[in-house]
Amino acid sequence: MKLLSTFAASSHDPAALQLLRDADIARAGALLAPCPVMLAAPGEIISAPASPRLVIVLRGALADATGDGATTRILPGESAGEQSVLDGEADLSGLTALEESELLLVDADLAWRLIEEADGVARNLLRLLSFRIRAASMQLRRRQKLGEFYRQLSLNDGLTGLYNRAWLNDVLPRLVSSAHATRAPLSLVMLDIDHFKKFNDRHGHQQGDSALRIAAHVLAGALRPSDFAVRYGGEELMVILPDTPGPVAAGVAERLCERMREAVVFDDMRQPLPHITASFGVASLADAQDDHGLIAVADGALYRAKEAGRNRVVVAAQAAPA
Ligand code: GH3
Ligand code: MG
Ligand code: MG
Repeated sequence: MKLLSTFAASSHDPAALQLLRDADIARAGALLAPCPVMLAAPGEIISAPASPRLVIVLRGALADATGDGATTRILPGESAGEQSVLDGEADLSGLTALEESELLLVDADLAWRLIEEADGVARNLLRLLSFRIRAASMQLRRRQKLGEFYRQLSLNDGLTGLYNRAWLNDVLPRLVSSAHATRAPLSLVMLDIDHFKKFNDRHGHQQGDSALRIAAHVLAGALRPSDFAVRYGGEELMVILPDTPGPVAAGVAERLCERMREAVVFDDMRQPLPHITASFGVASLADAQDDHGLIAVADGALYRAKEAGRNRVVVAAQAAPA
């Protein structure tokens, strides 16, 4: 930056400065008179000063990068660095001149004299800080919401809204170890829609998608809040039933099988109602079994349900206690 003149020798009007709005201009002007006016070239980085100071834009524009990718523009009459003047902490902002700019530099001691001696400056400063705090907390809330949105997105399947495989890989091992630790039962139901390839061929992929959504809806609507429904892959779904012994899980699977068969897939009454059915395999956690073992046993039972004619539930035989 190049020194141009003092504020007094420059042609800038103190009444145009935001901090001096409706303030005692005569006193403020006298205090600011000896302050340096600097010229910054386009793109020039305004390096952080050794001690806190106000930077007031007289002409041109600055970009203020907060360090997390957000930038704000500081236009003529506006200032930066108020907070570091007030709390004496280092200024964390990174200022860059967006174009050729004239800047008024006011060191902290003088800024404090402005606050104390020029009526109205303190009020303007409070207003400005309150505005900045509000803007910062709004941005924080937006970012938190966005973070939550993406977290949800990465754990839920986009088509059905059920939990996805990433969720399963994260949560099932923990449910299994907690069941072992507390010696609580844990059951798992695997289900696969019957002849779904034919359904797609006959009604189209779009209707196939909507059938999948309805299947997911059937599951989600029939479970307790403590149960989980997962899209395991294509048209294979899974239900995890914590604290649930095998015979109870078998009853849940029977209920799901019935509701699946009764679910209406098309709401177009001119067409014969196509129904979907599914085959179910039920398994309960055995001693020393891990999550992969539990899934394999449920999958085996599901395979037998297909073999036996589909649209039914097969419960895996309980492993003999060790
Ligand atoms: P089975 O009774 O033996 O399970 O027969 P199936 O036809 O259901 O079994 P198969 O595994 O041969 O076919 C599964 C079909 O599921 C094929 C695939 O196109 C369809 N599918 C998988 N994911 C989706 C999806 O997201 N949307 C739609 N519309 N179809 C899907
Ligand atoms: Mg399948
Ligand atoms: Mg299938």
